[in-house]
Amino acid sequence: MTPSCPSCQAPFTPGAETCGRCGASLLVAAAPGAVDPVCAVHPEWLSVATCPRCGAFACARCLRRGHEGAVCATCFEREPLAPLPWDQREELGTLKAFWRTCFGMLMRPTELLRGVNPDAPVGSSMLFVFLSAIAGFLTTGLVYTAVMGLIMGLAPETDTNGADPKTVKLWMMVGMATWMVLMPVFSTGMTLVTAGLDHLILRIGGVERGFSVTMRAHAISQAPYIVGVIPFIAVYAAPFWAMGLRVVTYRTLHRTSWGTAVAGALLAPVLSCCLCGGVYGAIMFAAIKSSGQG
Ligand SMILES: [Zn+2]
Ligand SMILES: [Zn+2]
Ligand SMILES: [Zn+2]
Repeated sequence: MTPSCPSCQAPFTPGAETCGRCGASLLVAAAPGAVDPVCAVHPEWLSVATCPRCGAFACARCLRRGHEGAVCATCFEREPLAPLPWDQREELGTLKAFWRTCFGMLMRPTELLRGVNPDAPVGSSMLFVFLSAIAGFLTTGLVYTAVMGLIMGLAPETDTNGADPKTVKLWMMVGMATWMVLMPVFSTGMTLVTAGLDHLILRIGGVERGFSVTMRAHAISQAPYIVGVIPFIAVYAAPFWAMGLRVVTYRTLHRTSWGTAVAGALLAPVLSCCLCGGVYGAIMFAAIKSSGQG
């Protein structure tokens, strides 16, 4: 919530004591006997905002710029939040904020995460996942498309089983394009599901913070997908890198033990991997068997 000038209602940046628009003092003396809320620290001044962390009424002199907006001085000093570049999208621009967060997560994750606001709206985390997925899949998808196109171009036309080779080529292209568009959407949706599973495990491990914290930790741990800009590498290496980072983000943002963080980050993927591996194996087995018959 942005605080606003008591005289002209223009929003102001915490730290200011006079209004940038009308020039009036933001410190307004409380009229004796009036019912307007006054600052919890300075009862002589009217409150201009309530602290989102502790709910206290605060005057302009007490407001500090925390990451969730204007917070009171007491809360700010207790835990001065370092800004995560991703939260500075307005100042930096979305792509720059994304790139800086990724870079920080890859190069110095513990330093980057120290003191950041553990919570963020789920939507903000989902946008981060979406961008990571684009970075991770797009380049590889393009290279696959080019390779497929090349193979199709070189392949003898009898390979198409009598169908019009042009139609087949067209459908292949449509398929690849759909894959490139749908993959990031699918990946974002999957993150919601896997973060939900992880959150369940973290809760069992005694974590108290909400799902949006798990979601944020899960999202920023996907930073390694940015190396997907280099084709192929990300698709194979990034998931493992991300899983390692997830242990760190869960531990830091939830302030929990290594044990709980490891369980939260690895238990669901390992179990689902065993399950998927089994299903995949079964499909392969069936495919080999049926091709043997045919
Ligand atoms: Zn004003
Ligand atoms: Zn406060
Ligand atoms: Zn005050």
